[in-house]
Amino acid sequence: LPKHANEAPLLDPYGAAFYARRIKFRVQDCFFRPVRGRPGTYIDVMKQTIDEDGIRLKTTGEVQACLNLGSYNYLGFADDWDATCGECVHGALRKYGPASCSAQSDAGTMNVHRKLEQVVADFVGKPAAVIFSMGYNTNQLVLPAIANAGSLIISDKLNHVSIVNGCRASGAKVIAFKHNNVDDLERTVRKAIIEGRGEADEPYQPWNKIIIAVEGIYSMEGEICDLRAIVDVAKKYKCYTYVDEAHSIGALGKTGRGVCEHTGVSPDEVDILMGTFSKSFNGMGGYIAGSRELIDHLRSRCAGMLYSSSLSPVVAEQVLTAFRIISGEDGTDIGRERLQAIKDNANYFRAGLKEIGCSVLGDDDSPVVPVMLFHYAKISAFSREALARRLAVVVVGAPAVPLYGSRVRFCLSAAHTREDLSIALAEIAEIARDLGIRYTRSAFG
Ligand code: PMP
Repeated sequence: LPKHANEAPLLDPYGAAFYARRIKFRVQDCFFRPVRGRPGTYIDVMKQTIDEDGIRLKTTGEVQACLNLGSYNYLGFADDWDATCGECVHGALRKYGPASCSAQSDAGTMNVHRKLEQVVADFVGKPAAVIFSMGYNTNQLVLPAIANAGSLIISDKLNHVSIVNGCRASGAKVIAFKHNNVDDLERTVRKAIIEGRGEADEPYQPWNKIIIAVEGIYSMEGEICDLRAIVDVAKKYKCYTYVDEAHSIGALGKTGRGVCEHTGVSPDEVDILMGTFSKSFNGMGGYIAGSRELIDHLRSRCAGMLYSSSLSPVVAEQVLTAFRIISGEDGTDIGRERLQAIKDNANYFRAGLKEIGCSVLGDDDSPVVPVMLFHYAKISAFSREALARRLAVVVVGAPAVPLYGSRVRFCLSAAHTREDLSIALAEIAEIARDLGIRYTRSAFG
């Protein structure tokens, strides 16, 4: 070890650990693959190879036209953007230019931002909302503004890294409970509250507040949060609830209002609803919706409001337009039809993968459909083989998931046709056979 921190090299291009280095070099052509064009149903993927030194990636010049099974284009706005959102967004670009050039607390609050805040609040069913320029930073910067060293955050074990980092930055005590397991959540809350000092009915609460943090749809698991039961536990023990709806808002529920609508929980029963615009809305940025007091507090105390430039007004207009379509305010049935299509496509594809014999994670109706590969070496094998068969897929390995938790994560879109999906399933059946990732008797022999 270096004696002083400043003796350590700033960058270590060869990787610190022998195994990490070997793994990285074997799989790196499957990541950061440049794509051309919009992230719609079909994309052009540029192939990559590793340079002569065996270290850096370079593109080969070869381009593969692929069916896109990896982007968060849940409602298909990336496919027909010109017809659905394009005109409004071009208008916003001419009117505002591309950027706000200021933080929200300074000169960066434009009328389009204020409008979007109101639309978000109305859509999710909360009195008020604020918006941020990045979904990741929404979690990372809001949690430290609402929790401190005297607080306790009880966080689902598989929460997104932005929540994990937000929890850490808050200085609160953080305890993880077993993923989506309400019994373990209740055990954890009781233990934290009571600590041997009394009965659950009269808890002695040593914390200034307890926040239970969960996701609507878990991004690497495709599972839908057991929100009804979680909210009941939160009420029983007087905890606050924080729900990240990055993957569920605009994708789940009959009218796209997310996990509350899907699970029959009233938005009043959840304290803080967080979401991102980077998925169903074909935009960027995030929001927090809650009580007026909470939103006022965030405006004056959250670093994202004070020290970071506001969301691009052009993107804000894109998101506003997407909201209009989703809620049918554009006078068409496009929103309703797409919400039905994403659900039907997700269920069809999930059922097809199960029929192949794959180990499929997640719940019906969830557009996030992970398939377990288990072995790390199968990440690159699956990704390369899929690319050769004109399928663009996202593979996931350590450290995003445990080493033995390697998987391929499919994201469905309302824009996929049945034909797209059945062709993809036939190709995946062959890949699954060749890679040995079928675990149940398969209809494909
Ligand atoms: N929360 C969850 C659950 C996510 O999956 C993600 C990213 N996919 C984020 C937050 C961050 O959102 P963004 O990509 O919009 O920054």
